[in-house]
Amino acid sequence: QRKHKITVVGSGNWGCAIAKIVAENAASNSDIFEKKVEMWVFEETVEIPKDSPNYDPANPGPEKLTHVINRVHENVKYLPGIKLPANLHANPSLEDAVKDSTILVFNLPHQFIVKTCESIKGKILPYARGISCIKGVDVNEHGINLFSETIGKTLGIYCGALSGANIANEVAKEKWSETTVAYDPPHLDSKAPSLQPSPSGSQVDLVQFEHKDVSGNLSNVKLQALPSEYPPIDHNVLKQVFHRPYFHVRVVSDVAGVSISGALKNVVALAAGFVEGMGWGDNAKAAVMRVGLMEMVRFGDKFFGATIDQRTFTDESAGVADLITSSSGGRNFRCAKLSVERNQPIEQIEKDELNGQSLQGTLTAAEVNSFLKNQGQEEDFPLFTAVYRILQGTMQVAEIPSYIER
Ligand code: NAD
Ligand code: 13P
Ligand code: CA
Repeated sequence: QRKHKITVVGSGNWGCAIAKIVAENAASNSDIFEKKVEMWVFEETVEIPKDSPNYDPANPGPEKLTHVINRVHENVKYLPGIKLPANLHANPSLEDAVKDSTILVFNLPHQFIVKTCESIKGKILPYARGISCIKGVDVNEHGINLFSETIGKTLGIYCGALSGANIANEVAKEKWSETTVAYDPPHLDSKAPSLQPSPSGSQVDLVQFEHKDVSGNLSNVKLQALPSEYPPIDHNVLKQVFHRPYFHVRVVSDVAGVSISGALKNVVALAAGFVEGMGWGDNAKAAVMRVGLMEMVRFGDKFFGATIDQRTFTDESAGVADLITSSSGGRNFRCAKLSVERNQPIEQIEKDELNGQSLQGTLTAAEVNSFLKNQGQEEDFPLFTAVYRILQGTMQVAEIPSYIER
C-alpha cells in the first residue's frame, strides 16, 4: 500500500494553521500518510528584530521567509508565536511542492487562487484530489463558481471544501473548535472503472456543483482514478487529514452549502463591524446577522438550489457558527468596525492593522454585487447590497436599518 503525500498550497494566517494540523496528522497517521508535508510559501523577505528569540546572529539582515520557517519552525510574519511541526517543509517552488502529492490543500486569499492554479496546470498528479479552505466565490463574466469547482476545473481533479467557525489564531493555539469538510466526488462510472465511489453513496456526478447559469464544463473533465495501491480518499481519510483533539471535523457532502456560507458570512461580518463601529450595541449586531443569514440561505437556494442542503447553514460549523465567530472577532469585523470608528476607508485599516494579511469580505462584497446586478437581484439582497454601497461610499451605515427593512 502506498502512502498519501499532502501539500498545503498557501502559508498565510489560516494556511499555516491548517498546515500545522495536517503535518501533525501526517506524523501521527504514518500508516497512510507520508510524514513530510510540503507547504508552498509565496516567497518574500522578512527582517527578524535583534531582540527576537528567532534572530540569527550568523544571519543578520533580511532573510527569506521560507528559510526562517524551516530554520525556526514558525511563520514569523503571518502566524507569529506558533511552533510549526518539524515535518512541515516550507517550499518556495509551487511546482516542486505539488508535483507528487495525492492530496492538495488549497489555502490562499481567494484573489490569488486562479493564477496559482493556472501555473500548475498539468504539473500535478492527474489523480490528485483537492480540498479548498478558501472563503470566497469565483465571480467572472460567465457567472459564479465555487472555488472548489474552479480549482477542480483548472487542474482536472476533484476538489472538495473545508470551512467552519475557525479564527486561525485560536485554532493555531489549539483552542477547541469545530469545522466542516465537504467532499462529494462523482460515483464510479464506466470511463474510469476504478474511480472511488462517492463516499456519500450519492448518485450525482460533478455537474451537481454547477450553478445553473454556468455552462458547466466540469462534466467534460476526465477524472483520473486513484491507483488502487493508495487508500481511497474518502470521508474517513479526510477526517484523518484534518481532525485533531482540538479541531473537530464533521464530513458532509454539501460542497456548495459549505463554500457559499464561508464566502457570504464575510460580507455579513463587515455589516456587523459597521454597526459595532457606530456603537449601536449587540442587538443591532444580532439584527444584521439575522438578515445576513437569511440572505445567505436565499443566495444558496436561488443560485445553487440544485445541490445545496439548507441544513448546512444551521447545523454545520460552516454555517451560522462561522457567522457568529466571524462577527465577533474576525478580521473583516474588526477592520469594518475600525473604519467606522476612525472614519477611514477599510483598505487603509487593512493595510495598517493586518501586516500583510488579506480581507476577503471587501472583495467578496463587490464580486457578489456584480453577480447580483447581472442577475437583476440586488434588491432581493438588501444587506449584501448595503455593505457593497457602504464600501463604495454611496451609502451611509446609518441607512442600514431602513434599507434592510424594505
Ligand atoms: P492571509 O490573510 O494571511 O494572507 C496572506 C497570505 O497571502 C500570505 O501567505 C501571502 O504570502 C499570500 N499572498 C500575498 N500575495 C500573494 C500572491 N500574489 N500570490 C499568492 N499568495 C499571495 O491568508 P489566510 O488567512 O491564510 O487566508 C486564506 C483563506 O483562508 C482566505 O480565503 C480566508 O478567508 C480563509 N480563512 C481565514 C481564516 C483566518 O482566521 N485567517 C480562517 C478561516 C478561513
Ligand atoms: P476573517 O477573515 O474575517 O478573519 O474570518 C476568519 C474566519 O473565517 C473565521 O472562521
Ligand atoms: Ca451528493
